Amino acid sequence: MKTDNIRTRFAPSPTGFMHIGNLRTALYTFIIAKKYGGKFILRIEDTDQERFVEGAAGAVYKTLKDCGLYWDEGPDVGGPYAPYIQSERTGVYREYALKLIESGNAYFCFCTKERMEKVHEQQKADGITPAYDRHCRDLNPEEVKKLLDNNTPYVIRQKVPLEGETIFRDELFGEITVPNKDLDDQILLKQDGMPTYNFANVIDDHLMDITHIVRGREYLSSTPKYNLLYEAFGWESPCYIHVEQIMRDASHKLSKRDGDAYFGDFVEAGYHIPAILNYIALLGWSPKGENEIYSLDELINEFSIDGLSKSPSIFDPVKMKAINAEWLRRMPHDEFKSLVLPYIKKNCKRDDIDFDVLVRTLQPRTELFTDIPEKVDFIDTLPGYNNDLYFNKKMKTSPETAAEALKAVLPVLEGISEEGWNEENIHAALFAEIERLGVKNGWLLWPVRVALSGKALTPGGGVELAAVIGREESLNRIRKGIEKLV
Ligand code: GLU
Repeated sequence: MKTDNIRTRFAPSPTGFMHIGNLRTALYTFIIAKKYGGKFILRIEDTDQERFVEGAAGAVYKTLKDCGLYWDEGPDVGGPYAPYIQSERTGVYREYALKLIESGNAYFCFCTKERMEKVHEQQKADGITPAYDRHCRDLNPEEVKKLLDNNTPYVIRQKVPLEGETIFRDELFGEITVPNKDLDDQILLKQDGMPTYNFANVIDDHLMDITHIVRGREYLSSTPKYNLLYEAFGWESPCYIHVEQIMRDASHKLSKRDGDAYFGDFVEAGYHIPAILNYIALLGWSPKGENEIYSLDELINEFSIDGLSKSPSIFDPVKMKAINAEWLRRMPHDEFKSLVLPYIKKNCKRDDIDFDVLVRTLQPRTELFTDIPEKVDFIDTLPGYNNDLYFNKKMKTSPETAAEALKAVLPVLEGISEEGWNEENIHAALFAEIERLGVKNGWLLWPVRVALSGKALTPGGGVELAAVIGREESLNRIRKGIEKLV
C-alpha cells in the first residue's frame, strides 16, 4: 500500500446520532492518516434531503471532537478543497455528470416513478432483482433534445458497459472481479438536481485528492461502479479499505433497537470516552501482542491494516465494560477524581467529607461512572438498615458480637481529635484495639462498616468510611448502632 501523502476522509451522512459502527470507521480513517503523517478530512454528505436530520452534522462534530479525532480540513475549519459540505457543491456534480454524458458514459433518463414501479413489480414477479431496465439508455439524440426542450423531468444515469468485467483491489479483501452485466445503471444525478451519494462521493474523493477510502463493508458491492466512474473520467482510483460490520450476534447487525448502538448512549451509560474508542478499535482490529489497553496515540503506533478483520465482529458488552474498568483503574488519581466528582455529587451534597479517601476507595471498584451515585448514597444520611446485616459468617460476627465491638470502638474513636481525624490515625487506633482485644480484624471492622453505612457493600471498609464521613458523623452513627443493638 502506498503510504506517502495520505489523505483520508470520514464522510458521514448526517442522518442522526453517531452509530458506533460509523465512529469506528472514523477512528480507523483517522488512525491511518495519522500513522503515515497524512491528512484526515471531514466531509458532510448531505445531498439526500429526504434523510436530512436537523442538527445531525453538529452531533458529528461534537462526537469527533469529544473523541479527539480532530480533522485537518472540513466544514468548520475550511481547507484548500472547500466547501466540505456536499449540499454546497451541487454545481460541481452537475458539471461532471454532463461530462460523462458527453463521453458516452452516462445518459438522461426520463422514466417516471410510476413506470419504474411497474417495471420493478414485473421484475419481482419474474423472480429478477429489481433494477433499471435501461429503457432510456439508447434514446436517439433528437428525442432526448425534444424531451429536454419540453422540460421533461429527468435523472442522469451511469452507462455501465454491458460486457467485460470490472476489477478492483481492496486492501483487505484483495482483488475483486465483477461482470459488468451484473451492475445496474445507477442514478448519478436525481430529478431535484442533487447527486446521489454514489456519484458525489466519487467526484469529491477525486477532487479532494483522497488517497485512501475507509468505509463500511456495505459499500464493497457498489465499488465496481465507482471504479467505472474513475475509469470513465480517466482518474486514478484510490486505495480501498472496506471494514466489516459490527454484529449483535451471528446473524443480527448491532442496531438502535439494541439500545446501545450509539456513541452518546455509551457516554450516558457511564463509559469513559477513550475506553469506548479503545474497545471499538479492537472490534475489528487485532493488535499483535497481548495488550488490549490502548490510548489513541498508542493505537496510531500499533495499528496496521493487516490486523483488520475480514469477518464481522460481535459486540461484547462484558468485554467493553472490563476495558472501561481497566481504564479507570489505570487512570491518575486526580484525573479520576475530576471525572467522578459530578457523579459523587448526584447523591452526596456534603462537601466537608474526605473526597481523597473516597475517590481512592472508589477507583479500583468502579466499572462505569454511573456505578458511583449508588455507592455513595449513605454519606449524607445513614440509610435505615436491619441488624441482620451484622451477621457475617466469614468475619464470625452477629448482632451480639457487633454490640460488643462497637462499644469497644466508641471510646477509641472518641480519643481521636477533630484535627487528628484521618485515615492513618483511625487505622492505627482501630488496629491497636484489635490487637488489645486479640480479635480478628473483621470482628471489629465489619460492625464499624455496617454502623457507618447501613450497607454491606461499600467503597472501602470501616477505616476508610470513618475517614470519609468525618468524626462527628462517625461517632453519631456508632452510638446509634449501639442503641439499635441493645
Ligand atoms: N455517506 C456515507 C455514509 O454515511 C459514507 C460512505 C463512505 O465513506 O463512502 O455511510
